[in-house]
Amino acid sequence: MDYISTRGSAPILTFKEALLVGLAEDGGLYVPQHWPKFSAKKIRSFRGMPYTDVAFHIISAFVDGEIEDALLRKMIDEAYATFHHPAVVPLVQTGADSWVLELFHGPTLAFKDVAMQILAKLMDHILTEQGRRLTIVGATSGDTGGAALEAFKDCEGIDTFFMFPSGKVSDVQRRQMTTIGAANAHAIAIDGSFDDCQSMVKAMFADHGFRDAVQLSAVNSINWGRVMAQTVYYFTAAAALGAPDRDISFTVPTGNFGDIFAGYVAKQMGLGIDRLVIATNENDILSRTLLSGSYTLSEVEVTITPSMDIQISSNFERLLFDAVGRDPSVVKNLMSDLKNKGDYALPESAHRFVTELFSAGSASQPQTLEMMGEVYNRSGYLADPHTAVAMRVAEQAVDQTTPMVTLATAHPAKFPDTVYKATGQSVSVPDWATQRAQNPEILSLIENDLAAVEAFIIDKSRIGSGRNAD
Ligand SMILES: *Cc1c(COP(=O)(O)O)cnc(C)c1O
Repeated sequence: MDYISTRGSAPILTFKEALLVGLAEDGGLYVPQHWPKFSAKKIRSFRGMPYTDVAFHIISAFVDGEIEDALLRKMIDEAYATFHHPAVVPLVQTGADSWVLELFHGPTLAFKDVAMQILAKLMDHILTEQGRRLTIVGATSGDTGGAALEAFKDCEGIDTFFMFPSGKVSDVQRRQMTTIGAANAHAIAIDGSFDDCQSMVKAMFADHGFRDAVQLSAVNSINWGRVMAQTVYYFTAAAALGAPDRDISFTVPTGNFGDIFAGYVAKQMGLGIDRLVIATNENDILSRTLLSGSYTLSEVEVTITPSMDIQISSNFERLLFDAVGRDPSVVKNLMSDLKNKGDYALPESAHRFVTELFSAGSASQPQTLEMMGEVYNRSGYLADPHTAVAMRVAEQAVDQTTPMVTLATAHPAKFPDTVYKATGQSVSVPDWATQRAQNPEILSLIENDLAAVEAFIIDKSRIGSGRNAD
């Protein structure tokens, strides 16, 4: 299968190439040239099928023969063996016709594990086959760093470095990054803000000498492999609830639009999805866009749901591409409007395209806390605040005649203070995830200085220092 850029002037790539490059060189995002289609019969066969089997069906449709079946199977099995639930992503009923899809049973208790675990296996395989190495560098305000360092810890061909603002991530999140105990996993506390960390990543990609010296790469949410992996659970959840013989709706706590875009992909592949509901916190740019047809940036507000404190929802560009009839010149113009004046107007037909399938709503912080308390009192269910934002929005979705599945994106134990405040309940990290608390924390505190961080990465990465792990 060929992969094309949403902005139309980057080379057409194979699956393997698209996975390794992440962002296209024209600034666009890679998407498959066409969406694979599954028949109703095939979707019906997913009922009662183990998660990894469904994952194989979906993922192999995108890999399209570039990786041998037996090998792909093995990677998928290994990736999801790290999850601490036999269903991998269990469905829990919380109301008469509402369910929660728990995506947080992976090693770092975050839904990011679902995609990172398989992405690491795929990338390492491709690199090993090509005799190449990479250095992944990223900035994290919490969940992504832990999930990535954990997923890539055993990769032969990859060293991983994540910067986080010193003192500004939670204890659970910091320990997840600092107690891995693998030679290729590096947590860097920066004496600065998250924005400082992010600016340094950008500057490293612009520093061609450094970029080439370490073969710099990223695994941010625009990587096609992450979206692909997230498509799987829409199929498993819908099949369990009766697809293809009845339609299902989903509500998704949204930040970068990766998770909910995966639902759109599932729909294009033939899954009967009625509504996809975008749930946001006070950073409600997507809700406003759906309402007004105009995507207008504003300031990021810091909330109790940090993973949704985002103004630029990168993956929205993939939806936009389809919404404008896959005309890359339109996408390019809208994206340059966004860059130059901080907003763009969706063409009317594109606005209609988006609102035909998507709804949106937002929940304020008081509403989120109230919802956490209500859900707990009603059904004994402890939701993390991100999940609660979506549960609140789901409840307000009008004319809901189909079963509603809300995606639960973090384990409540990742936000114990908020959970306690809302429900009076103490929630602790599950035993299997606390094991590593005994490991010593290993982290490097570095000043907010590009040259200092680059020197550290060159020294510690096997590729930059010329050390060979073999
Ligand atoms: C990353 C994340 C989200 C947002 O997902 P997107 O794919 O960026 O929309 C929501 N909740 C939690 C807990 C997350 O970690």
